Amino acid sequence: MEKIASTLALATFTLMGFMSAASAAEEAGQASFVLHKISNHLYAIGEPNYYQKNYSYLLVGSDRALMFDAGANQKDDITKLVRTVTDKPLSVLPSHLHFDHLGGLHNFNSIYLPDLPFVRDFKQEDGLYHVPEPVHLGNIDHLTLAPLKVSRLVKPGEEIDLGGYRVKLVSTPGHTRDEVALYDEANNILLSGDHLYPSWLLAGNLGDYIASLSSTLKLIDKDTRIYGAHADEDPSQVPTMAYEDILKIRDKMLAIQAGQAQGETFTDPELIKDSKLYKVVKDISILTDIQFTDGRRYGY
Ligand SMILES: [Zn+2]
Repeated sequence: MEKIASTLALATFTLMGFMSAASAAEEAGQASFVLHKISNHLYAIGEPNYYQKNYSYLLVGSDRALMFDAGANQKDDITKLVRTVTDKPLSVLPSHLHFDHLGGLHNFNSIYLPDLPFVRDFKQEDGLYHVPEPVHLGNIDHLTLAPLKVSRLVKPGEEIDLGGYRVKLVSTPGHTRDEVALYDEANNILLSGDHLYPSWLLAGNLGDYIASLSSTLKLIDKDTRIYGAHADEDPSQVPTMAYEDILKIRDKMLAIQAGQAQGETFTDPELIKDSKLYKVVKDISILTDIQFTDGRRYGY
């Protein structure tokens, strides 16, 4: 997998700017964002110095550009880095409404959300989407989320046409109810958000997660390039996964559901106070029975 990742990260550069609003990491000489070119249509933007090692993706068509996730960083404007790549009209679609994917949302004028009942329920009489804190969990990262003006709701199965570059929105609940992925059929690329990435996967609902994994396995094949929203142990590498990884994750979840898997207690000082961890392969594992560092339980 590391070999694949290094060849896919064709060109990488680091943006050191934004010193006027410099974060502690930047003052220490570390970049907030690192740009990786995957193709002329697709870029990954990593946050290697953020504890969750987020990766967001920039999709560029001949008419429009789309960010899949807004980055975790709340201070430094991720769109400034986007503007070094493209000057096309820019929208953002979060893979789901968790704080670590919404930090930069306020920098975007055009926000897309998936057209799901769970999401539509956030719309109030003012026409704005009021996402409650128990959904975005912003308290963990001191994120406050202003009500969102939404430009477009995208239905599951619907295509987003950026002009010569099209992706299909795929509903993949399990991490959260609103989790979505983007599938580029022409190039056989899946941007999988928090549905799939090569680190610990947080299972919000095991039944939904297994159903989504089974759908994903029908959608992809052994040649599909899969890019997730969090890096593995090496945050400098764009997080990629292979078909076999997805099979193993699905099978492990089935074993957990059947009570046949052996978990171990897992904690993480920055995010996880308590959980059960089930190892899958390499750095990939599944967390269930999660309690966050702020004491809250996770799941739906
Ligand atoms: Zn995440």
